[in-house]
Amino acid sequence: MNPATADARSLPLIDNEPVAGKRVLVRVDFNVPIVDGRISDDTRIRAAIETIDFLRRREATVILVSHLGRPGGVPHADMSLRPVAQRLSELLERPVTFVEECVGDVVDEAIRDSNPGDVLLLENTRFHPEEEANDPDFARSLARHADLFVNDAFGTAHRANASTEGVAHFVPSFAGFLVEREITQLSHLVTSPNRPFITIVGGLKVADKIGVLERLVERCDAILIGGAMAFTFLAARGVHVGGSRVEGEAGQQLARRILESAAQHGCGIVLPIDAVIASEVSATATPSVVAVDLIPDDQMGLDIGPRSRELYVSRIADAHTVFWNGPMGVFEIPAFAEGTRAVAEAVAASPGTTVVGGGDSVAAVQQFGVAERIGHISTGGGASLAYLEGSELPGITAILSSPQ
Ligand code: ADP
Ligand code: MG
Repeated sequence: MNPATADARSLPLIDNEPVAGKRVLVRVDFNVPIVDGRISDDTRIRAAIETIDFLRRREATVILVSHLGRPGGVPHADMSLRPVAQRLSELLERPVTFVEECVGDVVDEAIRDSNPGDVLLLENTRFHPEEEANDPDFARSLARHADLFVNDAFGTAHRANASTEGVAHFVPSFAGFLVEREITQLSHLVTSPNRPFITIVGGLKVADKIGVLERLVERCDAILIGGAMAFTFLAARGVHVGGSRVEGEAGQQLARRILESAAQHGCGIVLPIDAVIASEVSATATPSVVAVDLIPDDQMGLDIGPRSRELYVSRIADAHTVFWNGPMGVFEIPAFAEGTRAVAEAVAASPGTTVVGGGDSVAAVQQFGVAERIGHISTGGGASLAYLEGSELPGITAILSSPQ
């Protein structure tokens, strides 16, 4: 089945599966930021609680598996999942057994010593090079611990790794609640969005988002563009944007392709009309506001300006479906954060369907305190874009074709 058409109805779900007394291996996304041994953001751990609680209350032995960081196939003490076991235990208000390996005898013993309803967390799968190589033998040794496999790691569903894809070939596999929710929300955007459907896209490079832009111009009524990539689009239209960060001919060529396709499909492309500029990306630089075609060569555009803000906010207010990916400016620095803040608040105020995806965009809605008022915050930046552009998500395809 084409995963782009996969919706929650076609996914095998664990809801009605008898799990009592069974060993259920659950791929979660516990790739959390850890600073000096402390978890600085536990959003991803919280996102997995629903599935874990469901299985544990139904008396399954819950065996959690995840990657953390980029250890490059060798053990790294500072990328151990041990602190995550501790945090998870606090959130579940019950003990979580941490197992210092993800395959082999140590895991077998830990499972043998456990009881139905217990929760175990295995060590970082990326301590083994076979994980990212999607080695079938390694996948089989992961599957050996389990009667059933549940994938609840939407954030890594676009990667074919042993613990996301390979394992599903060897054991009956199901989608967890988080994966189900992501697919339901995202499929709604591409199948039957209420109109007007507006996308807001920003961030750095056109090339990073070209696939999703190509698909969305066919589906949206308008795309509002901000961030550094807005200057590449302006340059592609022949506007002189001073010292702004503009991509070379290849990036501008992609931008022109989007502009042409948008015109063919009747999708409006909205670009900033003014910009907040400064001489450098720095909190101490003196900002000023000019029209986008009046940016001096020694200044760069670092945020959309106040008139653009007003324009974007009014377009968002008129929309019935909104998808947002990518900040409008360098929102990490307060002087260049107002465009992103205005968009975040407008998306939050929209009574329509609202979806935000992308690491930095999600950080922005949290920073501006509007996360609770967003319809759906995707836990997977790359995976949500891959889904929307119609690319295969190997982690989802594998569930659909696993032995049942
Ligand atoms: P997301 O993670 O939401 O997909 P991206 O990673 O594509 O977003 O882009 C986020 C980055 O883009 C931020 O670090 C932000 O500072 C930067 N950025 C946005 N606008 C500009 C600009 N005009 N000039 C330089 N950098 C920018
Ligand atoms: Mg990012």
